[in-house]
Amino acid sequence: MPTIKKSVAMKSNTSKSVELKKPEIELGSEYCKVPNELLGTKLNPYLYGDNELFIRPFKTGEIRRISQITDDNSEELVNEVMSKVIKIKGDLTYNDIKSVDKLSLVFLCRTLTYPDPNFVINYTCDNEIEKEDKKDKKDKKVLCGASNKLHFDMEDVNIKYIKEDLGDKDFTFKTTKDITIKFRMPTIGDETLIEQHTDGMKHILKKEDKVLDEDILSIACIIEDINDEDLMKNIKGIYDYLNDLAPSDFIKLKSKFDKLHCGVDTIIKATCEECGGTVLVPVMFSSEFFLPEYND
Ligand SMILES: [Zn+2]
Repeated sequence: MPTIKKSVAMKSNTSKSVELKKPEIELGSEYCKVPNELLGTKLNPYLYGDNELFIRPFKTGEIRRISQITDDNSEELVNEVMSKVIKIKGDLTYNDIKSVDKLSLVFLCRTLTYPDPNFVINYTCDNEIEKEDKKDKKDKKVLCGASNKLHFDMEDVNIKYIKEDLGDKDFTFKTTKDITIKFRMPTIGDETLIEQHTDGMKHILKKEDKVLDEDILSIACIIEDINDEDLMKNIKGIYDYLNDLAPSDFIKLKSKFDKLHCGVDTIIKATCEECGGTVLVPVMFSSEFFLPEYND
C-alpha cells in the first residue's frame, strides 16, 4: 500500500541529518550578531544550545509603532516589533528567547537605531544640594531640579548575569514529600501562555469561590514535570498542586527561581550638569524613549 511505502521513505529520510537541517537564514547587511555580554543569560549554551541571535536597528514604521506603548498593550507591541528585528541562526524561534533577555534586546535595538549622541532624552535632577538661605545666611538643603539631557547607550546599562555552570540541578526541585518538580526558564512564548490562561483560570476558580494567584499561575506555566502524570494533564492541575504545596516548599521553590534572575537594570547613572551629582534615571518604555529629541 502506498501509505506504508510513504512512512518507510520518511523514516529513511530522518537518518540523513543534512536533509533535516533548517535552511540557513539570510541576513541583510543591517543585521549584527548580538554580543553575549549584553544579555543576562550570555546566551548560555544550556539555555540556547548553539543558536545565534542577530538584530538590526528599528525602521521608522516599527519604532513609531512601538512608541505607542501603554500599560495595556506593552507585551503585544514589543513582541510584534521585536520579532521582526531579531533573526535566529539555529532551531529556536523568537518565542523561545528567554524572557529575561527581552529587555536587553529592546535596549540594544534602541542603541543601534540612534548611535548619534545628539539623540537625547530629558530628565530632571532630583539631588539635594546645599544652598545658602538669603534670610539667615545658613546653608539649607534644597532640590537641584536642573533639566538635563541623556544619550541612551546600552553600554551604560548595568547587567546582572546568570551563573555560568547551569545544569539540570538548577531547574529541579525536590519537595519535603520527595516529589520532584522540573521547570524551565520562562520564555517569551511562556509569557503569552500565561496571558492566555489568566482569564480562563479566573473563570474556573470563581466557580470554586477562589481568586487567581497570578504568581502561582506564572510558575504553573513553566513547570515541565511533577512526578505525578495526572497532574500534568492541564494547567489547573499544576496550579492546584502548587496552591496546596507546603509554604516552606513553595518558598524554597521560589528562591530557586530567584537565583536564575538576571538581565538589565532599568536605572541608568547619569551626571547632572548643574550640581555634578549622580542621578539615577529610570529608563522607561515611553514614547520619548523610542522617539528621542534631536539636539543639534
Ligand atoms: Zn543636579
